[in-house]
Amino acid sequence: SEPVLEIRGLCVDYGLGDDAVHAVRDVDLTLHRGEVLGLAGESGSGKSTLAYGLTRLLPPPGVVGGGQVVYHPTDGPPVDVLTLSPAQLRAFRWAETSIVFQGAMNSLNPVHRISTQLLDVIKAHEPKSTAPGRQARARELLRLVGISADRLDSYPHQLSGGMRQRVMIAMALALEPQLVIMDEPTTALDVVMQRQILGQLAELRQRLGFAVLFITHDLSLLVEFSDRIAIMYGGRIVEQAPAAELYRRALHPYTEGLLHSFPALRGPRRELTGIPGSPPDLRAMPGGCAFHPRCPDAFGPCDKELPPLGPPGDDHPGRAVACWLHPTAAPAPH
Ligand code: ATP
Ligand code: SF4
Ligand code: MG
Repeated sequence: SEPVLEIRGLCVDYGLGDDAVHAVRDVDLTLHRGEVLGLAGESGSGKSTLAYGLTRLLPPPGVVGGGQVVYHPTDGPPVDVLTLSPAQLRAFRWAETSIVFQGAMNSLNPVHRISTQLLDVIKAHEPKSTAPGRQARARELLRLVGISADRLDSYPHQLSGGMRQRVMIAMALALEPQLVIMDEPTTALDVVMQRQILGQLAELRQRLGFAVLFITHDLSLLVEFSDRIAIMYGGRIVEQAPAAELYRRALHPYTEGLLHSFPALRGPRRELTGIPGSPPDLRAMPGGCAFHPRCPDAFGPCDKELPPLGPPGDDHPGRAVACWLHPTAAPAPH
C-alpha cells in the first residue's frame, strides 16, 4: 500500500562534536496508510528520540544530524518535514499528524473541564463549526474512545489515568489525522492500560483510516495488535517484519531474546530466558554489531563489521534484518 511517512537515514544526536551522544543512527522506516507499526526495544534504545526527531519536537540538546522525513499528504506533493519552516511545520503538524507522547495525559489542564478542552481543539480544527455542532462532535469523539458523554463535564483529576489517556486520544482524533504517533512510557503506564489503548487505536484506524506508530517496550502487545514491527537496538533498527512472521520466527538474536522475555501468547510454552547483559553504552558502542557482547550466536565478523539492514533472502518477503547470520545482498525493502 501507499506510504504516508518515509524516514530515510535519520540521525539524532544529543550534544555536538566529540561529546555528542548518537542516540538514533541512520534509521530507515516506512509507515503505510492505515497500518499499525509497532516500535519496540529496551529502555534507552532510542525509540522516543526517533519519535521526537521525526516530529521536530526534540528538546535541547537534541539535534537532527541528518536524513529525511518525507510525509505524503492526502492531497498535494510529498514534503520533507525536516526542511519545513516553523510556521509550515505548525500547520503540518496540526493538519495531519497527532502525537500523544509519554505522560501526555498529564498535560490536560487541571483547571478546565474535559468538555472545554476538547471543544477548544475542535474549534481550532473546524473554525466554521457551530457550537451545537461542536458539542455533538465532542460527544461522538468520546464515544469513539469508549467514554460516555456524561464525563464531558468532569475535571481531569476526576478521571482515571486510563480515561485521561483516552481523552488525549479523542483530542488527537478531533484533528482527523492521517498519522497518530503514540509513545508509551516503559514504566509509568501499566500494561493493561497500554493494551486497551492500542486495541482501541487498532480498531479505530480501520474505521477512520489513519496510520499508527506505537512505541512500547512491550513486544507481546505489538505481536497482538500491530501489522508490522520494527525492533530497535543501540539507536538502529535491527529487524523489521510483519507481526505474525516476527512472532513465528525472529531472525535477529536480539528479537529472539525479546520474544523470550514474555510468556507465549499461544501454542507450546516457551522458556523464559530474557536477554543476558545490559543495553550498550551509547558513548562507548561496541564495534561491529552492537549486540555482539550479549549475543549467544556471535561469530567471526560480528565484532568487526557492522551488519547492514537488508532483506534476508527470498524466503522472507517483506522482512529486513541486520545480522551476519542472514547476509543481505540488496538494500532494505521499504
Ligand atoms: P524508554 O523505553 O526508557 O523510553 P527510549 O528507547 O525511548 O527508552 P530514548 O529516551 O530515546 O530511549 O533515549 C535514547 C538514548 O539517548 C538513551 O541512552 C538516553 O540516555 C539518551 N538521551 C536521552 N535524552 C538525552 C539528553 N537530553 N542528553 C543526553 N542523552 C540523552
Ligand atoms: Fe549476533 Fe553477530 Fe547477528 Fe550481531 S551480527 S546479532 S553478534 S550473530
Ligand atoms: Mg522512550
